[in-house]
Amino acid sequence: MIKKMTCIECPKGCTLSVDIENCKVAKVDGAKCPKGTAYAVSEAESPVRIFTATVMADGLNLKLVPVRTDKPIPKRDIFKAAEETGRMRIKAPLEAGDTIIENFLGLGVKLVATREATRLTGR
Ligand code: SF4
Repeated sequence: MIKKMTCIECPKGCTLSVDIENCKVAKVDGAKCPKGTAYAVSEAESPVRIFTATVMADGLNLKLVPVRTDKPIPKRDIFKAAEETGRMRIKAPLEAGDTIIENFLGLGVKLVATREATRLTGR
């Protein structure tokens, strides 16, 4: 099966033609450098994404705190990650970049806040 994809490793955006056989990349055409081939293999065989979401806050100035993983996680775990952040509640103030979970879903990545949240005054 030939799959077309665009390499996102640099602004050139080469169009890659990826021959996939039995879930493995057999051949990559169109890459102008080795990074494109590596990208095609990763994207076709084990795609990863940075996970972003919002987490409900309690007693803070934000109702929803934006979060993200510090590294990409397997695409197959994105739904599980969304379920997990959907159950979470943040109650303590935090700074942008603070780690909320050190080993998120046991994937070896951190879940970090991307925005400061302060305690609501008058509580
Ligand atoms: S294949 Fe190489 S040159 Fe082409 S977009 Fe990817 S990184 Fe850039």
